[in-house]
Amino acid sequence: MLHCPQCDREMVEVVAKAAPGSLIQLDQCDKCGGIWCDKWELFPVDGDEADRLDPLDENLLRDSSRVQKKTLYCPRCADELALLADPILPKDIQLCRCRHCDGLWLNRGQFRRYKEYQKSTRLKKMSGEKIAAKLPEVYANPKSWVMTGTKGIFAYPRGAEEDEELVGKSLAGAAKLVLQSLARMILGI
Ligand SMILES: [Zn+2]
Ligand SMILES: [Zn+2]
Repeated sequence: MLHCPQCDREMVEVVAKAAPGSLIQLDQCDKCGGIWCDKWELFPVDGDEADRLDPLDENLLRDSSRVQKKTLYCPRCADELALLADPILPKDIQLCRCRHCDGLWLNRGQFRRYKEYQKSTRLKKMSGEKIAAKLPEVYANPKSWVMTGTKGIFAYPRGAEEDEELVGKSLAGAAKLVLQSLARMILGI
């Protein structure tokens, strides 16, 4: 059982829907509401899960920015977590990353912000029909699959960094770009 980096109490396992048709197990602190995502787990979780896992509460959101200053340690490796500094992320999204296991800690409110950002960038760059059209292609190509934490293989095309001309490119190229975007987004590289 993992311990909350903020409160040091045992976290509970929560199962979140991931699009399309997969489940991902996250760890959440039932005191502070923070969420721990192992490597690759954050990106594919369905954005609608934010309402359930990370309900909007302005008072707690203000709290979460205050506790952010504390030094936090990875619940898996006990290494110090570092704020993920990715220029493509809006400044109000603060993800704490473990450089050893690439897990991410999200204070309460951050999961929702991240998912809203993810949703807005995807909708801006890519229509729903295009996303739906791409899904079976990406799934058909094993090269586009990535490991999600301890939960096996998962694939998901990201719309944010993709532009219109990508649609016309080869499947291999598309899958590669998807993986690069994923890596950039989640690992900050
Ligand atoms: Zn906690
Ligand atoms: Zn770690």
